[in-house]
Amino acid sequence: MPGVDINREPPKRFPFPPRAQALWDTVPEEVRDDILAKVWCGHCRDSRRIEDFTAIPEEHNDLILRGFCATCGHVVVRLLETGG
Ligand SMILES: [Zn+2]
Repeated sequence: MPGVDINREPPKRFPFPPRAQALWDTVPEEVRDDILAKVWCGHCRDSRRIEDFTAIPEEHNDLILRGFCATCGHVVVRLLETGG
């Protein structure tokens, strides 16, 4: 997310665009938490929690989560297939 100030203050996520929010709402809550806790960080070379993220709606009802590694602050991205 170019131009976004990376600070460590809340909120932990940015508002989603409406279509992204609608897709995200279809994901069960316990699955959501699991997804957010296990995003691959290329800098840490491990799965990390995502922070300060937003979601971008993609084709085929997929969702891209874009945010920052909670451990190192590196940009992390995760494609989420909502099965639509
Ligand atoms: Zn990291």
